[in-house]
Amino acid sequence: MRLKSSGPEETAAIGFRLGSMLRPGDIVGLYGDLGAGKTTLVKGIASALGVDSRDVTSASYTIIAEYPVDPPFVHADLYRLGGSDDVENTGLWDYIGKDSISVIEWAEKLGEAPPCKLIRVCLEDKGNDMREITIEGMDEKDRCSL
Ligand code: ADP
Ligand code: MG
Repeated sequence: MRLKSSGPEETAAIGFRLGSMLRPGDIVGLYGDLGAGKTTLVKGIASALGVDSRDVTSASYTIIAEYPVDPPFVHADLYRLGGSDDVENTGLWDYIGKDSISVIEWAEKLGEAPPCKLIRVCLEDKGNDMREITIEGMDEKDRCSL
């Protein structure tokens, strides 16, 4: 599924709609360059899950943040990590999956074959405030469409 966003509010709104469809155990991998809008999308997802979007930050120092909502929401940002070996050392896999809903920025760092099934969301800067957002792996047949 390919969507267009023409501003940060629209990206957050797409995140909100996506967040409303997620289920416990879902893991969303976000791909895209710095400034593509990943954190903006996460804020929308978080608010759909009952987390105050102001609490969601670019996580420059926290690699993993867990929010005590039901189901628990986990936001990871792998930007500062080197690659999949570093990812192993964070203990990321102890936090995600299970009954949580997890979102991972810089999912590129998980390597070619992530060790879990991901809903993949790619964000691409198309100039000015335009972004192209591609979502794959949502099992669209049993969820209503965005
Ligand atoms: P990332 O987490 O991918 O590095 P952020 O969400 O932190 O990106 O930042 C995106 C930046 O781009 C913000 O400054 C935001 O205001 C700006 N921006 C402009 N247009 C958009 C858009 N359509 N969607 C998301 N962010 C946008
Ligand atoms: Mg970010």
